[in-house]
Amino acid sequence: MINSCIFCKIIARTVPSDIIKETEDIIVIKDINPKAPIHYLIIPKKHIQDIQSLDQVDSVIVANILLMAQQLSLVLSGSQAFRLISNNGLDAGQIIFHIHFHFLAGKNIPYF
Ligand code: AMP
Ligand code: ZN
Repeated sequence: MINSCIFCKIIARTVPSDIIKETEDIIVIKDINPKAPIHYLIIPKKHIQDIQSLDQVDSVIVANILLMAQQLSLVLSGSQAFRLISNNGLDAGQIIFHIHFHFLAGKNIPYF
């Protein structure tokens, strides 16, 4: 838990969010500024800055993130098509430095 991190605060429930799903190691919330009809953030509970900072011991978390995306696509009504995006580093548009994956579904899903 990093005190200055908004996602750590959301995970600790000290900042409110719209929680879609939660497991032992992952939380899924609605993005506060959705860019698609369905825009969720898949966030590991462990504070990891970005993909560059991943360690071999995080491999189960990484696998569980993909399996969570699969599960989200299965429970969505209508289309099961989705896009999974992770911004890594300032130049890639990352603004929250706690690793997360944007799950985007519905019509006209943007690349961003
Ligand atoms: P990124 O550019 O990949 O770091 O994206 C961070 C995302 O977090 C953006 O899409 C924001 O809209 C979203 N976001 C920021 N603060 C919150 C919050 N308190 N609850 C939900 N989503 C948030
Ligand atoms: Zn964090």
